[in-house]
Amino acid sequence: VTGRVRKPDWIRVKAPTGAVVAATRALMRSKSLTTVCEEAACPNIGECWSKKHATVMILGDTCTRACAFCNVKTGMPRAVDRMEPQNVADAAAQMGLQHIVVTSVDRDDLPDGGASQFVKVIEALRRTTPGTTIEILTPDFRNKADSAIEAIVAARPDVYNHNLETVPRLYPTIRPGARYYASLRLLEQVKRLDPSIFTKSGVMVGLGEERLEIHQVMDDMRSAGIDFLTMGQYLQPTPKHAKVAEFVPPAAFNAYASIARAKGFALVAASPLTRSSYHAGDDFAKLRAA
Ligand code: SF4
Ligand code: SF4
Repeated sequence: VTGRVRKPDWIRVKAPTGAVVAATRALMRSKSLTTVCEEAACPNIGECWSKKHATVMILGDTCTRACAFCNVKTGMPRAVDRMEPQNVADAAAQMGLQHIVVTSVDRDDLPDGGASQFVKVIEALRRTTPGTTIEILTPDFRNKADSAIEAIVAARPDVYNHNLETVPRLYPTIRPGARYYASLRLLEQVKRLDPSIFTKSGVMVGLGEERLEIHQVMDDMRSAGIDFLTMGQYLQPTPKHAKVAEFVPPAAFNAYASIARAKGFALVAASPLTRSSYHAGDDFAKLRAA
């Protein structure tokens, strides 16, 4: 009656409970930090937080864009918190993180799009917890991309992640405000500036894309030298957001993963509940050990 597609059995989400989850939440609040796990209503929060893996969202909890799939608040953000870089580093040290994923809202209001805050967070992490590997998941920085990328690459994160999110045909409805080729170019530039940084990107499926369009996106990513790929099922966070066009079955994810490996990605994570940062640390550690 509502026109919404019913969730299939393979989308099963455990409620976030337990002592570690409560302790993580308390630690984040005590450091005035926001996690994308909570803001994006991620279905894996119970599992990830129990394993002490979290994705920190810097530069506030309010985004200057409004993507049709995203649960983050839109509006005029607050001033940048100067304590944030050290707070992120302290939280990572206290949690004993081996790998941290740091992302942000889009800050089209800031002169550098927030790039300098990413740099400060990387520097604080290197100082405070040098053993932690650092993955950043950045916005596209719109027309400030060149200088933003140069500054961030110079700070040498281990993994530079930026999601293409969907196929180019669906950008106007799903990711308005972003340009498919600008996002690809951003990742290509990171690789060109410092080939030792791993580049990573992801797409959601179930938004109405065709299989061959996804294959084309994989080819585009490989042409841009992207090393790691993530693919997950889009889930509608609230009735206001884009509708799920289809629930892609697990077997289709396995088929996508085989094709992606054949195309040369070094790491591929593809399953209904895969998110950009899901198992990021475990997979990266395995790759480094190999
Ligand atoms: Fe957080 Fe990423 Fe895990 Fe989701 S998959 S709970 S965003 S760390
Ligand atoms: Fe969400 Fe990022 Fe889009 Fe902002 S730019 S609405 S945080 S997906």
